[in-house]
Amino acid sequence: MYITWFKIWSNQICNSVVPLYDIKVDVTFPLLYTASCLTKNLYQTPRLPKTGETIHGDKFLIGFGGKGANQCIQAARLGAKTTMICKVGKDFFGDNYIQNFKDNGVHTGKIKSENAIVIVAGANMLLSNEELQTALPAISHAKVMVCQLEINPQTSLQALQMAQESKVKTIFNPAPAIPDLDAGFYKASDVFCCNETEAELLTGSSVTNVEEACGAAQELLKRGCGAVIITLGPQGCVVLKEQKSTSDHVPTTAVTAVDTTGAGDSFIGALAFYMAHYPTMPLEEMARRANQVAVVSVQAFGTQTSYPFRASLPDELF
Ligand code: ADP
Repeated sequence: MYITWFKIWSNQICNSVVPLYDIKVDVTFPLLYTASCLTKNLYQTPRLPKTGETIHGDKFLIGFGGKGANQCIQAARLGAKTTMICKVGKDFFGDNYIQNFKDNGVHTGKIKSENAIVIVAGANMLLSNEELQTALPAISHAKVMVCQLEINPQTSLQALQMAQESKVKTIFNPAPAIPDLDAGFYKASDVFCCNETEAELLTGSSVTNVEEACGAAQELLKRGCGAVIITLGPQGCVVLKEQKSTSDHVPTTAVTAVDTTGAGDSFIGALAFYMAHYPTMPLEEMARRANQVAVVSVQAFGTQTSYPFRASLPDELF
């Protein structure tokens, strides 16, 4: 049995240190990770060290992370024009982080192009509403805006609302989940997409199977979002739309998973791609295809390193 974990490598943002957060234990695979803001160190060891103990690991990888960054890179690898709005430290790690976006074809400055997916994310709680205003031109020209909770929730909410006012489709991923989510988030979400754990925290009900996920989706939809998707790991996801009274279960392919870290971000990046490129496609079909992208990511080690490029995927997904 192997244990993999990430460690914050650099989270120096304008000389402030952002606290560790979003620790998740994957019960299917023994993965413990902390979602860092910037670069991650990943070690693989036969077991967790005891307090104060040093043990040898046999796999080491430096990777990039942050939910928004992962989602953005996955969308870009499928061929979407993407822009990232975030803040990084003025240091070697920040430069590396930006370079990783550039290497993946993600716009890192203010974008002027159209047909872009804008992801407000990353790294830090220091991105302010005022700074967000400067990104308004980019937001209003986008087709899809994707937000998470890795920035100040109020900034995230404002970004979603700015997008909606500009008739830009919104995907909100309430992760890392917070229990008392502002009601405005639901109304500002065309698609509210979360995993079982997040759905459970937000609804207060157990979400461990398709039936319970359908119930949670009903509850979340009532709060005002346009549609709800709850991802269910190897069981795919459930999709519930405003016009429909029952959720659709969208199963996925059974595979031998190697590392499921970041599968949800791969799914959301793919979903954003489909929403931007095939706006009339039924949401269930987008979810089916996003499952097929995410299933590739779970069959390789690492997060962004496991995300597929368009060229390696079957034509039927495009
Ligand atoms: P998160 O990474 O947020 O916990 P999930 O575990 O629900 O999200 O996974 C997101 C998506 O990744 C799923 O909807 C599914 O498409 C795919 N996926 C995750 N784990 C597996 C698995 N073991 N086998 C096949 N697909 C998987």
